[in-house]
Amino acid sequence: MTARPAALYIHWPFCLSKCPYCDFNSHVRDRIDQDRWRDALLADIDIAAGDGENRDITSIFFGGGTPSLMDARTVGALIERAALHWKLAHDAEITLEANPTSVEAGRLADYRAAGVNRVSLGVQALDDTALRFLGREHSAGEALAAIDAARRLFDRFSFDLIYGRPGQTPDAWQVELARALTLAGDHLSLYQLTLEPRTAFYRRAQAGEALILDADGTAALYEITQAMLDEAGLPAYEISNHARPGAECRHNLAYWRYDDYIGVGPGAHGRVTTVGEKAATRRIRSPEAWLDALDRGADVLADRTILTPDEQMTEAVMMGLRLAEGLPLSRLRAIGGAAADGLIDARRVEDLVEEGYLDAADGLLRATAAGRERLDAMLGHLLA
Ligand code: SF4
Repeated sequence: MTARPAALYIHWPFCLSKCPYCDFNSHVRDRIDQDRWRDALLADIDIAAGDGENRDITSIFFGGGTPSLMDARTVGALIERAALHWKLAHDAEITLEANPTSVEAGRLADYRAAGVNRVSLGVQALDDTALRFLGREHSAGEALAAIDAARRLFDRFSFDLIYGRPGQTPDAWQVELARALTLAGDHLSLYQLTLEPRTAFYRRAQAGEALILDADGTAALYEITQAMLDEAGLPAYEISNHARPGAECRHNLAYWRYDDYIGVGPGAHGRVTTVGEKAATRRIRSPEAWLDALDRGADVLADRTILTPDEQMTEAVMMGLRLAEGLPLSRLRAIGGAAADGLIDARRVEDLVEEGYLDAADGLLRATAAGRERLDAMLGHLLA
């Protein structure tokens, strides 16, 4: 039987403090029982592997929360357990998200020894005032030291910055980005600051504080970002992700190309094909409730829904148009057969091409940089 490729995501749900803009499934706890969490995540991998499907794991991604708060031994044990159940590709990309506090940066060598071969650092800004505004635990000096350690220890590393802070001028962003480019490896993630419901920033903004740039200001910074990163040879391969060709994050490409991925740990999502059916899976979100379900031998899934071909094609469009490489229409036909041709209205495609948001040629639909900047609105029109 041919093995089906899949990416494996492992969620560590704890952080030292909650950043005021963050709506991820991340929690602050006084004490974390590392042994209990290692055993629980191992047990969840066993559960995920219990569907009997033969899979090739092409990448593992430790995300969070803050996975650099995990014991390196736990990371090693989880990689080993994955390799026990599935065929772990010899060149599998194994990424760990790390925060740059000095304690966490001090663990990078241990993560490498445990099998991690790529790190992604949550740097977010290169000056202390901005870091304080963003509620981060690290200083700019610690960020620089962590980038330096990542460069020494890993062939592949990335770091994140957030732009669109209030008062951030195009000139200031240009200077910060130019500095980031002198520090970067082959990959950078550059996110716009947004106000997500259920965050402290959102509540403060509702009370009248200006916490993000207005739309025009953010659009100007987006354009600067595209131009500078193109010029530096790290074009956008996704809305917020830039890399030299070949240095893209293979794990995240699996999401956007709509390949299978398995999600393990509290709140983790998956798209998993079993016996020819693709299911959307979501594990229990609360760390304690997820642990409790494991202890009781109860189901750790909060939801498992078999996706119809129409639902799969819609998801494949939403994911694929994030990528600069575009969406091959053959991907939709592989899911929906002849029904793929009815999914997208040719007139709407023409409108979007005329307006400069979409390219459609050679069996590909490709959002332009302007289209990727307004992807939600464009998808709303395309899939209406
Ligand atoms: S460290 Fe990351 S995951 Fe944790 S609260 Fe901050 S932004 Fe969210």
